[in-house]
Amino acid sequence: MPTADIVIIGGGVMGVSAAYHLARRQAGRVLLLEKAPFFGQGATGTCAGGIRHQFSTAVNIHLSTLSIAMLERFAEEMEQEIDLRLVGYLFLLSNEADIAAFERNVQLQRQMGIATEWLDRAEIARRAPLLDLDAEPAILAGTNYHRDGLADPHSVVQGYVKQARRLGAHLLTGAGARRILVAGDKVVGVESEIGQIATETVLLAAGPWSGPLAATAGVPLPVIPLRRQIAVTRPLGIPRHMPFLIDFAQSLYFHYETGGILTGMSNPHETPGEKLDVDADWTLTHFEHAIARMPLLEQAQLLTQWAGLYEVTPDHQPIIGPLPLRGLTTCTGFSGHGFMQGPICGQLMAEEILDGAAHTVDLSELRYDRFAAGALAPEKNVV
Ligand SMILES: Cc1cc2nc3c(=O)[nH]c(=O)nc-3n(C[C@H](O)[C@H](O)[C@H](O)COP(=O)(O)OP(=O)(O)OC[C@H]3O[C@@H](n4cnc5c(N)ncnc54)[C@H](O)[C@@H]3O)c2cc1C
Repeated sequence: MPTADIVIIGGGVMGVSAAYHLARRQAGRVLLLEKAPFFGQGATGTCAGGIRHQFSTAVNIHLSTLSIAMLERFAEEMEQEIDLRLVGYLFLLSNEADIAAFERNVQLQRQMGIATEWLDRAEIARRAPLLDLDAEPAILAGTNYHRDGLADPHSVVQGYVKQARRLGAHLLTGAGARRILVAGDKVVGVESEIGQIATETVLLAAGPWSGPLAATAGVPLPVIPLRRQIAVTRPLGIPRHMPFLIDFAQSLYFHYETGGILTGMSNPHETPGEKLDVDADWTLTHFEHAIARMPLLEQAQLLTQWAGLYEVTPDHQPIIGPLPLRGLTTCTGFSGHGFMQGPICGQLMAEEILDGAAHTVDLSELRYDRFAAGALAPEKNVV
């Protein structure tokens, strides 16, 4: 039976970043198993590519601060361009409760060195002239941080795959894991489409598919797949420097995409499940609200649309670190903001596995045992 020092299940941003950081630290034989024919086609490949520091919890602000700095160095360090555009993230607020919450968030962000701006309607109108601020719900205020923005998820994945392989890691596609093998209280291997692999260390990084895989090892993992949809228009003459615009109360967002607009809107009534078909009814609702907020879209032609899956936890915070089975570690459950945190999380996974615990960031709030302890500190800035 082939053996590996570490088997990573999942070749999305978390898995490939971890493979790179483990290989960089000469972790032995690192084997990554991806079930799809290509890397990064799961949540990572269907995501909007947004990167932001504007969160409501200190741990997420910290993770994003370190991760976005890594994305800024990525082109040079990883020899891979990632179309990084720090165009800002403009949150649009339309009710008093959100304004009060964002005032607290901005205070926390500023304490942590993130100079988020508070914007009045006139300033929002100047920075986002394509928006109708009076469309219901009317926009009252907003926030922006100029070093938030966008990067290309596919390029980030390719950069990590290329460099991880160069450093000796084995990353395979078409190699789905079927079961995590257990003997007594510990991991002993993985049964996969390419046969059984003996290992004492498994990193479960299968994004929205992580729950059923953890269950094969007898570990309940509270991560559910939840469909989210995106549509992209044909070119409309949109300026490349347009900020990422988020109508927070409606979970409705817009950003520049090849001269047109990429837009998404989260369906608050979506039910869990591995649904990857586009919901036509929700598309109508989404477009109605998108056109009301950005009237130019009435003239737009649809270029493409797709559905992807968020990997959602009860507190919208990831689960990072050991699971209650010796040798099994996870990094999943990012609930809609994992792409931007992939770079630092790969490094933290290497620390978890090789040093016994992550030390660059205090992950205590993100541990699995928080659910049993009832110690949840939810992230509120979820789109
Ligand atoms: C519509 C949408 C918009 C989003 N927008 C943003 C955004 O703007 N910014 C942001 O930061 N985040 C965003 N996200 C969230 C982000 O995409 C995810 O949090 C992140 O990509 C998760 O990465 P991952 O590696 O954990 O999961 P994935 O990328 O899903 O990777 C898991 C991999 O595991 C593989 N796999 C599954 N089962 C098996 C198996 N049995 N064996 C082997 N491999 C397996 C899958 O094929 C997949 O490639 C968005 C998500 C969606 C759906």
